[in-house]
Amino acid sequence: MTKPSLSQLISDPSCMDDYDPNSMPVDKARLFIKQFLEPVAETETLTLHASLGRVLAQDILSPANVPNYDNSAMDGYAFNAQSLNGQQLKVIGTAFAGKAFNGTVAADECVRIMTGAAMPEGTDTVAIQEKVLRDGDTITLSEIPKPQANVRYAGEDLKHGQCVLSAGHLLRPADLGLLASLGIPAIKAYRKLKVAFFSTGDELVAIGKPLATGQVYDSNRYTLFGMLSRLGVEMIDLGAIADDPQLLEHTLLNAAAQADVVITSGGVSVGEADYMKELLSKHGQVMFWKIAMKPGRPLAYGKIGKAHYFGLPGNPVAVMVTFYQFVREALLSMMGKAATPALPMFKVECTTPIKKLAGRTEFQRGILFTDDCGTWKVKPTGAQGSAILSSMSLANCFIVLDESVGNLDAGALVQVQLLDGII
Ligand code: AMP
Ligand code: MG
Repeated sequence: MTKPSLSQLISDPSCMDDYDPNSMPVDKARLFIKQFLEPVAETETLTLHASLGRVLAQDILSPANVPNYDNSAMDGYAFNAQSLNGQQLKVIGTAFAGKAFNGTVAADECVRIMTGAAMPEGTDTVAIQEKVLRDGDTITLSEIPKPQANVRYAGEDLKHGQCVLSAGHLLRPADLGLLASLGIPAIKAYRKLKVAFFSTGDELVAIGKPLATGQVYDSNRYTLFGMLSRLGVEMIDLGAIADDPQLLEHTLLNAAAQADVVITSGGVSVGEADYMKELLSKHGQVMFWKIAMKPGRPLAYGKIGKAHYFGLPGNPVAVMVTFYQFVREALLSMMGKAATPALPMFKVECTTPIKKLAGRTEFQRGILFTDDCGTWKVKPTGAQGSAILSSMSLANCFIVLDESVGNLDAGALVQVQLLDGII
């Protein structure tokens, strides 16, 4: 795909042959957004405890061999397999993890050895204790291990100078342990991404106040708070803003001035009170799309000043679906993460028939469960309206039905994306 600028796309959508803002496929929208993203420039040094969920801004090279000495992988007896004459060996001492045996082991001798203990000089093999009969200071090998068995060699896990973690890697619990195992106390990471968000709509009421007819509680800011928390970004919650052009303008400019990313919900469809579109066109370069998907048809993406802007639909399920399908990976990429593919998908059997129109991608809320034989299967949560937020709470996955799929019979294979455990 060539890279037209945002303003070219907005002023002349036909500058790209197959670009149609009124029917934008999900994958294409994703690619469009991707080409305008850059990681934040600034980095900071963090201790290991502070670095969980952050993205490395440096390659980490192993400062040593891991392990850095040959050691036993099992509890047993260390001896030299080359000079073995029979099956009997004399025990001449003990080697503990952290307390080595300092002598040299001759032919027909062995050392009692614990897991992790350094291999004594003269030994190359460990017989596990279960395969040994001990009588006083003598052992008999009931089975002769292969030479070099049950030994972990220096550098077997990582070699000195080897790149262990690359810049762009998002640090998970295993990585903190790995860094600690290398004796590395601090790393350079990209700074936290700043994300400002607000809801729009005259009908929105803050929790804690009574609801009048025609009003709804502002739930989108809470799902957004939850999803953004998982990503570990710095959040600026600017509240629920009424459909008042001046208030919206002030809030939008305030958000764009202090954040890397601005996210709003509501006000990007074509309702009468949707002032957001006008403001966005006035102050930024924003593309408005009708995405060929359900839920989540209207979506806006662009820039307001230096800030990236995502205008999500107002409906509560649509907010979550568009966040997971577009915003999540965009934020990860701006956080510095090197590879930011969409959520992984795999195929399972759906036990219920599904009604679906071909021509758009649907993200139905699904429940993955195991049947009586222990096989994973999926079924939809029930009613799939884009305002039915309880469907998201019930679901543990999205059932992703792409554009080519129409009605499905029970037993059809469908693609699912896990919701549990994602960030
Ligand atoms: P809109 O996109 O502004 O036309 O809103 C579409 C629907 O989503 C309307 O029914 C709104 O009441 C609802 N909605 C918009 N914002 C929120 C919000 N923050 N919390 C809950 N529902 C919302
Ligand atoms: Mg609205």
